[in-house]
Amino acid sequence: MTKPPLTLYLAAPRGFCAGVDRAIKIVELALQKWGAPVYVRHEIVHNKFVVDDLRAKGAVFVEELDDCPDDRPVIFSAHGVPKAVPAEAARREMLFVDATCPLVSKVHIEAERHHENGLQIVMIGHAGHPETIGTMGQLPEGEVLLVETVADVALLDVRDPERLAFVTQTTLSVDDTADIVAALQARFPAIKGPHKEDICYATTNRQEAVKAMAPRADAMLVVGAPNSSNSKRLVEVGARAGCAYSQLVQRATDIDWRALDGIRSIGITAGASAPEILVDEVIDALKARYDVTIETIETAKENVEFKVPRVMREPAGA
Ligand code: SF4
Repeated sequence: MTKPPLTLYLAAPRGFCAGVDRAIKIVELALQKWGAPVYVRHEIVHNKFVVDDLRAKGAVFVEELDDCPDDRPVIFSAHGVPKAVPAEAARREMLFVDATCPLVSKVHIEAERHHENGLQIVMIGHAGHPETIGTMGQLPEGEVLLVETVADVALLDVRDPERLAFVTQTTLSVDDTADIVAALQARFPAIKGPHKEDICYATTNRQEAVKAMAPRADAMLVVGAPNSSNSKRLVEVGARAGCAYSQLVQRATDIDWRALDGIRSIGITAGASAPEILVDEVIDALKARYDVTIETIETAKENVEFKVPRVMREPAGA
């Protein structure tokens, strides 16, 4: 039987970012250096495939430091942790390595700097996301107020409208965040903040590639996890940029083939925590059903790389 033709647009950049790459490397190096088990507080990055792979190598994933023994190394995930977490690990004299992405740490430093200057902080982010919890946890309770939407801005009850600053989660929708920043600036003209927001290069680049790809595609698949903020944003960006059907899939087995019935083109991208092997799996599944022609839609080139912490570069016992 002849397969129907399908143009497959492949977004570039897509998939792993420098922060995710570094965090995974830290766990792998820790396992090599100290042997198993190495504890990891929270999923090192939001991807089941990555987590399962590291678990098979000897990583133990826990949600809280209380679940870790004192005498094994523990790694903090790429999303960042509240200040109380490393403080508690130090108090228990644990060996810990912080795999927080340097771009998240930059936001932590920004928030602290504003706090030292006597400003109250407004954080634009998603309630309950580990990055938001980590950033808010850099400062004492009440010093960081969270807004998730433009509507939340009107409800803010601030200490002094003249002494405010904002920071953002790194993995938000660029467009939604611009609207929230505009609402903050309209209500609090004196509010200080970064030039635009704190959304990282990887989130911005992946959203830009989707915006270029989505209007050309009958459907779009985003390879990523349901708890991955930047992956979920790619689905929304795709839908808003004109793609009629935009779906998040963890693996090829999640593809809803019935929903793809009759399509002639499809866009594929992947969130910053999704490995390329899963993109290949999805492409192979499409090739099994369609006569696929691949076209890459490249909107940026990335060459960002973050060094692992010095302790991971030193030999064991150093
Ligand atoms: S998505 Fe951005 S902030 Fe998050 S780990 Fe990757 S580079 Fe860092």
